[in-house]
Amino acid sequence: MLSYRHGFHAGNHADVLKHFVLIQLLEYLGQKDTAYTYIDTHAGAGLYALDSGYASKNAEFETGIAPLWDRKDIPPAFAAYMDLIKGLNPSGKMRYYPGSPYCANIVMREQDRLRLFELHPSEIKILSENFRKLDNHAAEQGKRQTVRGKRVIISAGDGFESLKALLPPPSRRGMVLIDPPYEVKDDYRRVKVCLEDGLKRFPTGTFAVWYPVLQRQESRSLPEKLKRLQANSWLNVTLSISGPSPDGFGLHSSGMFILNPPWTLLDTLKEVMPYLVKVLGKDSAAGFVLESGEAGASAKR
Ligand code: SAM
Repeated sequence: MLSYRHGFHAGNHADVLKHFVLIQLLEYLGQKDTAYTYIDTHAGAGLYALDSGYASKNAEFETGIAPLWDRKDIPPAFAAYMDLIKGLNPSGKMRYYPGSPYCANIVMREQDRLRLFELHPSEIKILSENFRKLDNHAAEQGKRQTVRGKRVIISAGDGFESLKALLPPPSRRGMVLIDPPYEVKDDYRRVKVCLEDGLKRFPTGTFAVWYPVLQRQESRSLPEKLKRLQANSWLNVTLSISGPSPDGFGLHSSGMFILNPPWTLLDTLKEVMPYLVKVLGKDSAAGFVLESGEAGASAKR
């Protein structure tokens, strides 16, 4: 089923959490000179206009990037995320919001590799076009065209299936982002199966999974299942901007589950999550959960 279009949700609270954590993970990998590979199994369109098209319909960015835009009290650990988004909007007006491939492309260096998968025929077209524009822009400025080609490979296909062939990456350094729509409950099962296989092929890799926090059983049990996987360590963070609405519609809470996270991530999140709750929280049910653990040990909160 391919009805999901990420444009409707661009820049919402879930994107803020996901992309903030993603940038932290990539920046950590970039601390060593050796090249690393970033694999995005569900890439989306790459870049979204907030003032037109899908994003403007429900204006979900009002729950995420919009309330953060003019804040003067951004915690230092959150600055890299805000700087990246602001850098895409040099006029100062909030017009564009980056998807995970764009965030990664900005943070990653020339020697690093991006491998992007997308199944939706329209989304892959837009993604490819967005990266082609980046190349043209680089060429106009007399810069080498390092965006596509060897550095970035965009493939039409099933990200869950395609991951196998790419692990482990050549430099044995890298991370995978798994960010499915979860419109079909099989996505929950496929996330777990894909991680089990991924960890066997690349036991030292970092794997990050975004997931919606919903009442449905598959959503509630996903983090518990991921804690039992054979990783060295894990970290789970959720952000809720409110309690569930009486009609049960809308997404109010989401999480990022990271297998083999960098050791620095827990402290960074301790600094940033209370701030996100303060700025994005809508009622007394707003909050966050932050827990981590090692293989076979119980969770620390
Ligand atoms: N990761 C993107 C970001 O943060 O900007 C958003 C991705 S969106 C939540 C999920 C995307 O996965 C959609 O564009 C959808 O078309 C695509 N998709 C759905 N099933 C897929 C599959 N099996 N393999 C690859 N892409 C898939």
